[in-house]
Amino acid sequence: MSVQLGRIRTLKEGLTHSDGKPGPVVYWMFRDQRIRDNWALIHAVHQANKSNVPVAVVFNLFDQFLGAKSRHLGFMLRGLRQLSQQLRNNLQIPFFLFRGEAEETVPKFLRECGASLLVTDFSPLREVRRCKEEIVKRVNNSITIHEVDAHNVVPLWVASDKLEYSARTLRGKINKRLSEYLIDFPTIEPPTRKWVIAEEQCIDWDELIADVLRNGADVPEINWCEPGEIAAMEVLMGSENGFLTKKLKNYSVDRNNPCKPTALSGLSPYLHFGQISSQRCALEARKLKTSHPQVCFTYASVHIDAFLEELIVRRELADNFCFYQPHYDSLQGAWEWARKTLMDHADDKREHIYSREQLEKAQTADPLWNASQLEMVYYGKMHGFMRMYWAKKILEWTRGPEEALEIAIYLNDKYQIDGRDPSGYVGCMWSICGVHDQGWRERPVFGKIRYMNYAGCKRKFNVDGYIAYVNLLVGEVRKRKAENLLSGKEKVLRR
Ligand SMILES: Cc1cc2nc3c(=O)[nH]c(=O)nc-3n(C[C@H](O)[C@H](O)[C@H](O)COP(=O)(O)OP(=O)(O)OC[C@H]3O[C@@H](n4cnc5c(N)ncnc54)[C@H](O)[C@@H]3O)c2cc1C
Repeated sequence: MSVQLGRIRTLKEGLTHSDGKPGPVVYWMFRDQRIRDNWALIHAVHQANKSNVPVAVVFNLFDQFLGAKSRHLGFMLRGLRQLSQQLRNNLQIPFFLFRGEAEETVPKFLRECGASLLVTDFSPLREVRRCKEEIVKRVNNSITIHEVDAHNVVPLWVASDKLEYSARTLRGKINKRLSEYLIDFPTIEPPTRKWVIAEEQCIDWDELIADVLRNGADVPEINWCEPGEIAAMEVLMGSENGFLTKKLKNYSVDRNNPCKPTALSGLSPYLHFGQISSQRCALEARKLKTSHPQVCFTYASVHIDAFLEELIVRRELADNFCFYQPHYDSLQGAWEWARKTLMDHADDKREHIYSREQLEKAQTADPLWNASQLEMVYYGKMHGFMRMYWAKKILEWTRGPEEALEIAIYLNDKYQIDGRDPSGYVGCMWSICGVHDQGWRERPVFGKIRYMNYAGCKRKFNVDGYIAYVNLLVGEVRKRKAENLLSGKEKVLRR
């Protein structure tokens, strides 16, 4: 089955090979790190079979990408190790891993293997787009480059060709295209032609992972979230603790209660690294509606709709913002009304001013905020409701909106396992700069930006319960760290 044309953008049209024979297809995997339900991989295999040429998957590990630490790189590489094995064992497709800058490694590989088609997945982030532009310039003129939106249910450029104002303006456009795009995936079969062009690379995964863990050790790995697409499907559908199978029934009621973190899906790490497809999550959620029509009109439908709103509309709105707004992570990217109101109040007196270091160490006078910061630093995933409060308080406690935004993005990207994502930039922009929101009653510091405070949180959930829960989490992580240190020392002594 071929991929819908709307999902594919031609970044470069190549000329026919001088000898008339097409070369292999290479899929440069970046954002969609999975085999299953991956339109970019489906397209690469389809194109290879159509031209009767082999196909390979390549991945480039940048020396530095948006400040990724052990937490992010460990999760990603462990997922890729699993992927490379499955790719070889189940599909007989080779996997090549390069280190350095993709604008150098990818064109070099294409040259060496004489490829005719480069397929890549889609990300709206400027670093990736710049890199692709460079690759387009550097490859020879016989190469065609296709970009496939394998991340959004409705391809970003199909959903809308412009910057959307809010969820309200995008929702209808997405819903209109769902019958066309929210369809089941074909199963991929091993490609007809086998790869014999370059010898398959032997990757020392243990050494590679140990190396990146050493370099990014200031933000250690998390242990509660198993990486890889098998684990991702378990989180979605597992018979013991899966979100759709066991937890959905509380979603719309409890998802804004930080004391009940398991009411959330916990899918964001997998969605961020592309270890699960949002389309798969949506298909499975929708199946529940049709397979249980008797409950569809009662409680289940409310939860499914709430989940689909976050998973599709909100998430795809974030991609829309980052794609069409070049200043997606700065005050310049805010709407005119928001920029004006923030600047009008930039010099308002703040009750507290904290430095980035104080905030990073959770040294504020607000125990609720400190707890959320510690949840992020130690656990690696702050509760969704607390993220809003957390970012808004940074606006209240820093010297101005630009500094607030910079600090929020810095901390979010550094510590959240799902950080460095369009939803993260837009989450910070929503909280601090009113993006996708409306104006509210004017007040000091915030101006017309939506305000949140401690008293409001107290009315909504058990603040002390949340703080106690985070203290427990932090205690467990510190204990484990001490035990690991001790066992490391023992090993050294025993040598
Ligand atoms: C200041 C701030 C920072 C944020 N940073 C990030 C981030 O770095 N990475 C990230 O993935 N999300 C971020 N979010 C959005 C949201 O908080 C998380 O996606 C959510 O908490 C992830 O947990 P979950 O998968 O268990 O959520 P669930 O409620 O189970 O949601 C399911 C999925 O829907 C999507 N989703 C949910 N809420 C939102 C939202 N508000 N905007 C866009 N998509 C959403 C996510 O892909 C999520 O995995 C941020 C929000 C704010 C306010």
